[in-house]
Amino acid sequence: MDTPSTETCTYCEGEIETSEWHPVRAVRSDEDDVEILPFCESECVERWNDEQGPAEDDYVV
Ligand SMILES: [Zn+2]
Repeated sequence: MDTPSTETCTYCEGEIETSEWHPVRAVRSDEDDVEILPFCESECVERWNDEQGPAEDDYVV
């Protein structure tokens, strides 16, 4: 199968073509570990930001 490489938007779980520009956010998962989260558009970054709240807490469902 010859599918283009894609990633999944962190917020809306939409498909992102990695060959196209897309916003990313770097978050600290550990003291020295940085995780890159892909987003399909800047609106998703803002909404995701809102959900994170001001504190860097663990994600609680
Ligand atoms: Zn999205």
